[in-house]
Amino acid sequence: MDKVMIVTGGSRGIGAATSVLAAQRGYAVCVNYVHDRAAAIDVVAIIEHAGGRALAIPGDVAREDDVVNLFAEADRAFGPVTALVNNAGILGAQQRVEEMDAARLNRILSTNVTGSFICAREAIKRMSTRHGGTGGAIVNLSSVAARLGAPGEYVDYAASKGAIDTLTIGLAREVATEGIRVNAVRPGIIYTDIHASGGDPDRVERLKDTVPMRRGGAAAEVAAAVVWLLTDEASYVTGAIIDVAGGR
Ligand code: NAP
Repeated sequence: MDKVMIVTGGSRGIGAATSVLAAQRGYAVCVNYVHDRAAAIDVVAIIEHAGGRALAIPGDVAREDDVVNLFAEADRAFGPVTALVNNAGILGAQQRVEEMDAARLNRILSTNVTGSFICAREAIKRMSTRHGGTGGAIVNLSSVAARLGAPGEYVDYAASKGAIDTLTIGLAREVATEGIRVNAVRPGIIYTDIHASGGDPDRVERLKDTVPMRRGGAAAEVAAAVVWLLTDEASYVTGAIIDVAGGR
């Protein structure tokens, strides 16, 4: 059977690095994006140029209809998904908790938490032996913020990643006898655009000396852990949360 992967937010940063590496390992990759179609098309082109298979599929993971459509498009293009990377994630401008309004909180939580749950639901319907599937694997992108809390920056984002850790533990146990493994990767400070979206484009440079390894990480270093967890090399690993954070 074909190895088919959906990477939410596969168009930039860690998701893009994961999409490219997964294609090298033989997966047909659905590169999901929400706004930046050109970036998604670039990732597809890189994969196809190297002889792999990929498709750019738009969809906002915070919108249930979009997620249902994303998985249906993947079905049509490559067949049922065998690997899901819940990577799409956002943070807001740096604020203290007393400055945060409900609209901001709901935006962060609906993308980072609800989106990951709904994508997991659609994946399980296709992967689980309970539903006639042949198994699969899910990796959720958490963050070291889940255990550091991101004070003065974005406690809401950190809390959303705490929820991702709990989702990983609970879902791993829920589907462990159904052929599905569920794990998480907790990146530290990685060179991507996400820091600029929080209004702090130089965040990695500013904080890298606080990292025990005294450097920021590359998206490819995170992708290596994500893809390993999805492959049969990690066949006895489920409910695990792997830090890729230079010791932070
Ligand atoms: P990034 O560079 O900001 O890229 C985010 C990606 O997610 C883009 O492809 C974006 O698509 C997509 N996206 C955003 N909102 C979406 C939505 N509602 N639906 C579908 N796709 C959406 O982010 P990153 O740094 O690679 O982060 C990836 C994951 O790693 C996130 O979950 C993040 O929390 C986690 N993480 C990152 C770091 C870090 O230091 N970079 C550290 C810890 C954890 P468009 O381009 O179309 O907007």
